[in-house]
Amino acid sequence: GKNGVPVAENFRLEQSTIADMIQAGQVRVRTLYLSVDPYMRCRMNEDTGSDYLLPWQLSEVADGGGIGVVEESKHDNLAKGDFVTSFSWPWQTVAILDGSLLQKLVPQLVSGRLSYFLGAAGITGLTALLGIKEKGHVTVGANQTMVVSGAAGACGSLAGQIGRLEGCSRVVGIAGTDEKCSILVQEMGFDAAINYKKGNVAEQLRELCPGGVDIYFDNVGGDISDTVISQMNQNSHIILCGQISQYNKDVPYPPPLPPDIEKIQKERNITRERFLVLNYMDKQEASILQLCQWIQEGKLKVRETMVEGLANIGAAFQSMMNGGNIGKQIVSVSK
Ligand code: NAP
Repeated sequence: GKNGVPVAENFRLEQSTIADMIQAGQVRVRTLYLSVDPYMRCRMNEDTGSDYLLPWQLSEVADGGGIGVVEESKHDNLAKGDFVTSFSWPWQTVAILDGSLLQKLVPQLVSGRLSYFLGAAGITGLTALLGIKEKGHVTVGANQTMVVSGAAGACGSLAGQIGRLEGCSRVVGIAGTDEKCSILVQEMGFDAAINYKKGNVAEQLRELCPGGVDIYFDNVGGDISDTVISQMNQNSHIILCGQISQYNKDVPYPPPLPPDIEKIQKERNITRERFLVLNYMDKQEASILQLCQWIQEGKLKVRETMVEGLANIGAAFQSMMNGGNIGKQIVSVSK
């Protein structure tokens, strides 16, 4: 149901047999890593609320971002041993896929840490980088303050660091535990972080952003976002990345702001345009190279939580939707 909280028991593991033979244009792949992401919650509804996402069908194999290795190929551009990825990788240990729908990966770009292609060097990194570039209006030397919600998540932890790399002078994160907050500050270079489950967020934000907020990278929506928007400056910008606090609710996307917050947004001329990374895929290649370079140079710190085994993917999804650990949540399917 649209208002249900997703749990591990929504998923089950089945054994089945796949064809012995592959056809021309196909490859047989062994799955290495699968990604669990917030947008998948929308795929659990009959209507996902967007035209670019199809609902998962009951009792059919789920799919999402994945990485694997080619074990047999009848596709001209793919050979045994190639590492490949797709946004619609079936949650299977082994699969027969259409080779033309796969992208070949270059492991050297991430010093062999292939799972990064699902996170910091993949769609998550692209979302953080392109969200900031396309909707953030960061101006070097303008002394801008950026606030990031969901800051310890996969996207948020990169967004704060990229905001700094692009020229923000102050970056403040909002996250759900003290441990996450301390990693953001000590490891990822955030100037400060607020634990939204403790104390008064509005007061802490006022203290930590004395010049107000110029750019808000919004991953969560709801009360946290209302509090941040109330402290945004004239002509400032919201990067409307996601609204995870609203994903178990029957509301449209993006959810409308409460009237008093919408009034502030309009009066202060705060931009809040919908951002969808898939609309900027022409910038994918150059942006991935930029992200890989920052990772290699140690300018972009990456955290992942690795869950072992396909049998645990439902639990990994449940955990991620409930806050999970810092950074990207990945399921390792085979070595
Ligand atoms: P994620 O951050 O790894 O996981 C969710 C994070 O949100 C967790 O760190 C959790 O940490 C926080 N959270 C969960 N429920 C919350 C709540 N009710 N209130 C406040 N915080 C909550 O996921 P992600 O992959 O990086 O995605 C982040 C956002 O980006 C999502 O909204 C996603 O839909 C969006 N996204 C958008 C695009 C795009 O093209 N626009 C692309 C990818 C992702 P705490 O412990 O801090 O609660």
